[in-house]
Amino acid sequence: MLMKTTHNPRFEPTVDLEDEMANAEAKCSKCGRTHPRDQLELTFQRPDAVVALDKARRASEVKESDDLCTIRSERFFIRAVLPLSVQEWKEPYRIGVWVEVERTVFERVLELWDDSAQHQTPPFQARLANDIPSFPSTSGLPVRLQLTGPKTRPDVLVPQIDHPLHREQCLGITAHRANEYSSYFS
Ligand SMILES: [Zn+2]
Repeated sequence: MLMKTTHNPRFEPTVDLEDEMANAEAKCSKCGRTHPRDQLELTFQRPDAVVALDKARRASEVKESDDLCTIRSERFFIRAVLPLSVQEWKEPYRIGVWVEVERTVFERVLELWDDSAQHQTPPFQARLANDIPSFPSTSGLPVRLQLTGPKTRPDVLVPQIDHPLHREQCLGITAHRANEYSSYFS
């Protein structure tokens, strides 16, 4: 299968600088430091299953781009973002994650890739393909994948109500927590 590597890159929304300057002044009630909106959000470059492969297997078994990956044409991954609203900020914090989907979903997403009405498609079943630090494992967690538009990555929604990530997505997080996520870059 050909990977779509030549389509328009999907741009992340830009940060409202004026808004963020104002926020940078506010002291955190938890740690007393300031948490300006970090330009760098926690991002997984590839699905964990791809990273785990040694070089030779990855070269022979994986087709990959920054948007899509397949392993042996039998496992299918799509890059997405997991938005968490932040109390102090206008824009949500977006964790860059991969999800694994069934072949039929993968093919449907490819069909809808450049469709400006793709956001009207109901969400797809998927599973998180990255282990986000600090949680009970999120790898394999059932999620919903919502297409958002030809120039934006799909959103991931966590429906499992007893998972901490679901609570964070429902209730939002603090700027302190967002900066904690950013600090998980290794
Ligand atoms: Zn803090």
